[in-house]
Amino acid sequence: MHELIIVGGGPIGLYAAILANKKGIKGLLFESSEVLGGQLMELYPEKEIVDIPEIPMTTAKDYIDHLIMQVNKVKDGIVIHTQEKVLGIASRKTGIEIKTTKDTYLTKTVIIATGLGVYVPRKMGLPDEDKYSNILYSLKSVNHLRDKRVVIMGGGDSALDWAKMSSRVTKHVTIVHRRNEFRGDYKTIQEISTITVKTPFIPVTLAVEGSIVTALELENVATSEHEWIKGDFFFVNYGHIPMSDFFGLERLGIGAKVDEKMMTSLPGVFAIGDVAGYQGKLKRLAPGLTEAKIAINEIIKRIK
Ligand SMILES: Cc1cc2nc3c(=O)[nH]c(=O)nc-3n(C[C@H](O)[C@H](O)[C@H](O)COP(=O)(O)OP(=O)(O)OC[C@H]3O[C@@H](n4cnc5c(N)ncnc54)[C@H](O)[C@@H]3O)c2cc1C
Repeated sequence: MHELIIVGGGPIGLYAAILANKKGIKGLLFESSEVLGGQLMELYPEKEIVDIPEIPMTTAKDYIDHLIMQVNKVKDGIVIHTQEKVLGIASRKTGIEIKTTKDTYLTKTVIIATGLGVYVPRKMGLPDEDKYSNILYSLKSVNHLRDKRVVIMGGGDSALDWAKMSSRVTKHVTIVHRRNEFRGDYKTIQEISTITVKTPFIPVTLAVEGSIVTALELENVATSEHEWIKGDFFFVNYGHIPMSDFFGLERLGIGAKVDEKMMTSLPGVFAIGDVAGYQGKLKRLAPGLTEAKIAINEIIKRIK
């Protein structure tokens, strides 16, 4: 039986873990992604954060690194499990049951800090594209790309980073982007002569052999001309779409309805951060941090 389970490793879930550790509360934090930090790491890691009281101007990534360091200072408090998504929360006679993608847990209290929800990769929009084993939406390592033909779709920083990473192991990297201008920092790849840049193109058709895509048909959005590009791996980096889950809890607006103690319609289950719904809710960091304090103060009364 855990004392507290925190669902979501964004800034507000991490801050709740820091506060719980300070109060000697033991439990777990589940983050569905492999990266902690929520929107700050998924959407704007390099952006400056200027509006958190008492914290000097910092980038989103630095702020998350700071929070993670604080959580990890305490070894026997809140233990973080990444890549474990919470699927269900249910009240049982023995406590609150949390079902994840890996196991089932029992806890006295829960904090939901799932923000905008889990992020799923934005697809190209071509029929059956996610059925083929060589169309991929993330690039974690490049070893399997040695001397392969790699095609990368997208114009943001991570698409450019992927192109740079791939160019370390193969001379056949093409980056395809629908605009002539890149949203990301083009200097990342500017000096790398082995990377081919194709703009302004969009993918329109797949050429398939069995479970493998062998080529992509591209359309030049300026001239409407078509051409094919062959490849061994096709990486799509069109960003992510958030998918919220409210675990069947009562809703208010676009959040889970909470009372003044941040408790949801299920006793012992609290909601804080962007997922919390109450009149006048602001989806910003500072209110979320205050909500974490309120929830932890209430949780202490319930478990100690
Ligand atoms: C472009 C942009 C710029 C912004 N700039 C600022 C700013 O300068 N200052 C400011 O105050 N606010 C800013 N915000 C708002 C701020 O980012 C949010 O208020 C903040 O991220 C909310 O934090 P959170 O922890 O509640 O949710 P999130 O950051 O959304 O984190 C939720 C986490 O929960 C995880 N999760 C979701 N579902 C599950 C599940 N079922 N199981 C396990 N894990 C799950 C997700 O993977 C995610 O990591 C900005 C927002 C955007 C989009």
